[in-house]
Amino acid sequence: MAASTRLMSRLALVTGGGSGIGRAVCQRLASEGASVVVADISHESAMETVGRLPGDLRGQGHMAAAVDVSSKESVKKLLTSVQTRFFQPPSVCVNAAGITQDDFLLNMEEEHFDKVLLVNLKGSFLVLQAVAQALVACGAPKGSIVTVGSIVGKVGNIGQANYSASKAGVEGLTRTAAKELSRFGIRCNCVLPGFISTPMTDKVPERVISKWWSSDHNEPKWHLLPESM
Ligand code: NAD
Repeated sequence: MAASTRLMSRLALVTGGGSGIGRAVCQRLASEGASVVVADISHESAMETVGRLPGDLRGQGHMAAAVDVSSKESVKKLLTSVQTRFFQPPSVCVNAAGITQDDFLLNMEEEHFDKVLLVNLKGSFLVLQAVAQALVACGAPKGSIVTVGSIVGKVGNIGQANYSASKAGVEGLTRTAAKELSRFGIRCNCVLPGFISTPMTDKVPERVISKWWSSDHNEPKWHLLPESM
């Protein structure tokens, strides 16, 4: 089957679809024929993403939805509204919603630690669980759930104790989900991107970004210290 029709008749849900990686994922899924639910805490940016998508191959259309992935109630409402509109749960789900609240470990506020864990880790759990429950309940023959971790979850990063802990957690969550859900035909995979220029990384000062990259190997130097945060 040609790449452009690979996802024909698939319904995909992308959290964090209003920006950066999530928006690019929506574009790719739609270009391969999927109908995409673009979910984001910013309904406006989700609508903007939908406005940029090519039509899906079955003419079901795309949908923009507001969701706070850190709220169980909000995630539940999202799944209900998706199933009300499309009469099926999403069989493809990409959890790209995420935040950073960087600071040195010695200064980090408990509140900033909690917030990053709440959105990145608990948010991934809530969405993964809700989609898996919906797929199992309707007896769907197959599903694919993707979470977005980060290379810093493996190697750590100065100024990101909260973020790197959350992303290590996302990887563990996904590995466990994969073991538990394979018997239902649901695949779970965690991708660990390196540095990708998006609105999230736009917050990092240019002089810090330039220090992350090795002129010799074009690889990020994760050990280099941002001078100020
Ligand atoms: P981004 O800031 O461009 O996009 C994140 C999106 O998540 C935004 O649209 C934001 O509104 C949404 N969001 C934030 N909190 C939310 C919530 N509570 N509920 C629903 N949506 C919420 O960032 P990005 O760089 O595209 O990051 C996407 C994912 O990739 C994140 O999980 C991030 O941690 C991960 N990641 C990014 C990089 C990178 O270098 N950009 C590297 C590794 C991993």
